[in-house]
Amino acid sequence: MAYDFDLFVIGAGSGGVRAARFAAGFGAKVAVAESRYLGGTCVNVGCVPKKLLVYGAHVADELEQAAGFGWTLEEGHFDWGTLIANKNREIERLNGIYRNLLVNSGVTLLQGHARLTGANEVEVEGQRYTAEHILIATGGWPQVPDIPGKELAITSNEAFYLKDLPRRVLVVGGGYIAVEFAGIFQGLGVATTLLYRGDLFLRGFDGSVRTHLKEELEKRGLDLQFNADIQRIDKLEDGSLKATLKDGRELVTDCVFYATGRRPMLDNLGLENTGVELDARGYIRVDQQYQTTAPSILAIGDVIGRVQLTPVALAEGMAVARRLFKPEQYRPVDYQNIPTAVFSQPPIGTVGLTEEQALEAGHKVQVFESRFRAMKLTLTDIQEKTLMKLVVDAETDKVLGCHMVGPDAGEIIQGLGVALKAGATKQQFDETIGVHPTAAEEFVTMRTATR
Ligand code: FAD
Ligand code: NDP
Repeated sequence: MAYDFDLFVIGAGSGGVRAARFAAGFGAKVAVAESRYLGGTCVNVGCVPKKLLVYGAHVADELEQAAGFGWTLEEGHFDWGTLIANKNREIERLNGIYRNLLVNSGVTLLQGHARLTGANEVEVEGQRYTAEHILIATGGWPQVPDIPGKELAITSNEAFYLKDLPRRVLVVGGGYIAVEFAGIFQGLGVATTLLYRGDLFLRGFDGSVRTHLKEELEKRGLDLQFNADIQRIDKLEDGSLKATLKDGRELVTDCVFYATGRRPMLDNLGLENTGVELDARGYIRVDQQYQTTAPSILAIGDVIGRVQLTPVALAEGMAVARRLFKPEQYRPVDYQNIPTAVFSQPPIGTVGLTEEQALEAGHKVQVFESRFRAMKLTLTDIQEKTLMKLVVDAETDKVLGCHMVGPDAGEIIQGLGVALKAGATKQQFDETIGVHPTAAEEFVTMRTATR
């Protein structure tokens, strides 16, 4: 049977664009449908605008440090409207770049919601298209618990477009987004409270990292409330919001921001017309090669709920394009040792096993840990401490995990990701000459095991 396309991609986000472009580059006839925004979550309401806001908030730190270096600054003034307008302009520029990338690589770009009408057929804006392979790359969407007043709360989607910066914010959640946005709001001068339902936020991260970040955020005056959860939200007469907690306490604020995880985006996707099944958590079930339970349909990225990070979606998109149209170049995605950063203030960088995971996996663990005040702060009154930690297998000397909380942690951890992928030992770390004077050199100069 002749199909309209070799590959039909649903969703022009991180994974979809990568798969479409490379498949077209390998000679396939490709279409991509996008209902909302080119570049998907990362470009429009994720990594990129988030990082721009983080930079904006970080300026406050630089200003605070300036006096120690002899700078006298007049009272500064921050304008949220300018930051958002400049951010929006940059996102529009990136949308254009994504459009050009797709069109110039020969991909047919269809604007509109795509709905599966069969295992080899998709409908967009009333028009039906057939394809030999269909790739679902529809990403995710913020998930807010079903509590009375939840419509009064915002999520990351709305936070990027707030008209005015609120005076007070309650951030709910203890994952990446909650911690990052708490830092953004607090850095921009908003009275910020972070509510997390458990004992300590960032579940799954290394214990030392979680505790260290908690201490540093508290030093900065962030109001951290653990074992706290909202039962209901009500609007008060003056327009402010009252959050009633499960323990009966009432907190009054201007904005309640939920960052309690994301669900797969499957709305009106027409999965019922195909044999595509979901897993127990509600994500699309795929095999090792991203094939769903319908042989002609594949899925990648946040919608399969493995590792919800842009570089992972990119790698999965690449793997699918190669597997279908350039099999001799196919290599499976390596899910081991994925480096990641939380752009909190200060940020976290981490790669490999946490101390807890290493112990649980049965390793005999040696830990090297260092806490120090960064050189840049020595001429200031700021008492922030940087944390660096190596988790080493005591028997093989292999470095199992590297963890950091401190300035530029994301930048520093990328290189260590290469070292871990190459299987570096602690001895090789020790034999690596440091770059002096940097904070990063501490990773190759920690000599005495802490435990
Ligand atoms: P997406 O990028 O979400 O793309 C899916 C696309 O499909 C969307 O454009 C959507 O409009 C479209 N779509 C959905 N349904 C349909 C349909 N039926 N028809 C047509 N189009 C459809 N990751 C990092 O690595 N680093 C970060 O710093 C980072 N920061 C983040 C900050 C925030 C606030 C958020 C929310 C996420 C962040 N992420 C970050 C995660 C990252 O954005 C995602 O992992 C990544 O975007 C997933 O890519 P994807 O291709 O699976 O989906
Ligand atoms: P996460 O899954 O990281 O965190 C969700 C948080 O919400 C957890 O602390 C969880 O608690 C809590 N939570 C879940 N359900 C409820 C509930 N019903 N009531 C109260 N609290 C609840 O999700 P995010 O939304 O922060 O981010 C989604 C994903 O996007 C991340 O996991 C990450 O993969 C990606 N991302 C990456 C970034 C980066 O690379 N820098 C930045 C932002 C997002 P508990 O731990 O107890 O379950």
